[in-house]
Amino acid sequence: MEYISTRNNQKNFTFKDVFLKGLADDGGLFVPKSIKSFSKEDLNQLKILSYNDLAAEIIYPFIGDFMSKDELISTISKSYSNFRSNDVVKISNLGNLKVLELFHGPTLAFKDIAMQLIGNFYQYHLGHDQKKINIIVATSGDTGAAAIDALKGKDNLNVFVLHPNNRISPVQRKLMTIHEDSNVFNIAIDGNFDDCQNLVKAMFSDEKFSKKINMSGVNSINWARIIAQAVYYFYAYFKVGNGQTISFSVPTGNFGDIYAGYLAKKLGLPIDKLIVATNKNDILHRAISGGDYSQKKVKETNTPSMDIQIASNFERLLYDVKDCNSEVTKDVMSKIKNNKYKIDKNDLDKIKKNFISEMLDENETLEIIKIINDENQIIVDPHTAVGIGAVRKLGLENNCVVLSTAHPCKFPKAIEDAISKTENLPDSLKYVNDRKEKFEVLSNDIEKVKKYVMNSI
Ligand SMILES: *Cc1c(COP(=O)(O)O)cnc(C)c1O
Repeated sequence: MEYISTRNNQKNFTFKDVFLKGLADDGGLFVPKSIKSFSKEDLNQLKILSYNDLAAEIIYPFIGDFMSKDELISTISKSYSNFRSNDVVKISNLGNLKVLELFHGPTLAFKDIAMQLIGNFYQYHLGHDQKKINIIVATSGDTGAAAIDALKGKDNLNVFVLHPNNRISPVQRKLMTIHEDSNVFNIAIDGNFDDCQNLVKAMFSDEKFSKKINMSGVNSINWARIIAQAVYYFYAYFKVGNGQTISFSVPTGNFGDIYAGYLAKKLGLPIDKLIVATNKNDILHRAISGGDYSQKKVKETNTPSMDIQIASNFERLLYDVKDCNSEVTKDVMSKIKNNKYKIDKNDLDKIKKNFISEMLDENETLEIIKIINDENQIIVDPHTAVGIGAVRKLGLENNCVVLSTAHPCKFPKAIEDAISKTENLPDSLKYVNDRKEKFEVLSNDIEKVKKYVMNSI
């Protein structure tokens, strides 16, 4: 499969380029040049597969000659061998509503599913090509832990994680900062997640710097993450779909996880609506409900992994909406950068064919945690609560799957506020509380961050 950048569709890239670079040099995002969807017969064959075999069938067409199918199969099985659920994910019921639990990996959020695989992709690649890689990633709390767990101790690479200082939960922070591996570096930036993401983007676009350190990225814009995440939409559909179309509700920040659902739909999965569920940082809700894609200041909420106002992966959708015209996409992106973009009616109608959106404020989120606990004796994490609340507000409980993106113990304060209970870490992770933390606090200054990276490698 060949890939192009959303801002220049004349130049082709391989999966290996796309995977290692993350972001295109022109600032655009990589997308496949074309996608072949599965036929009804194909879907019938995929239906009976285990999670790992399904993952291999879905991912293989996207990776070209990066590795053989047998190598992919063994890489997938190695990646998911330490998950606490035999089939990687789990489906549970909340009344009519189905919940797809994606948090059974080592760092208790859905990010592990893609990241464990990516970690092994790096290892495979570095086994063939010896140049040391420096991976730099921004996190709103969960990506960082997942990346560190997937990459710690691996040969020939370092991982640098930038998180917004004091704006993530202590459990989220500890899962990143307790590691003693010499290839792990945590940086707390005095700023918000968008600041962290902008610093990483600035390092990438500084060609001299990024070449010098052989920089690579695993942010949610990395195409390898998207394809790994598309798998669980198929898995859930095959478990609960009964041949009908179903909708998915997805708590959304960077538009990555939900874009994976859109990819699944493009691949032929009978998805009706993809529900974009946001917190008060509602740029995507404003955009999808009324075309308003203006950026506002990031607000802190009890769902910190979604405290984002630059939904990077949205560019991939805009590229589609603009009929795969990269010149027009580029123009739109520069208008967005200057905060001068409104989605016109025609484009919005196209978006609404696949997406619908809803927003929950903090009290509504806590209220959902309480209702679910009262009705079902189940504790859901606040992000999952946003996904559930969106479905309830829209009245779409039938034929709908909510993506449960994190384990509630990662967000003890929200759980305590909602139901006055504490949710403990699973036994296998209790040790986290007693370990010493290590991280560097830096101001939101690109030169300081670059210097820190240079001095560390
Ligand atoms: C990252 C994250 C999200 C948002 O996912 P995106 O791909 O950024 O939209 C939602 N919930 C949790 C728990 C997360 O860690």
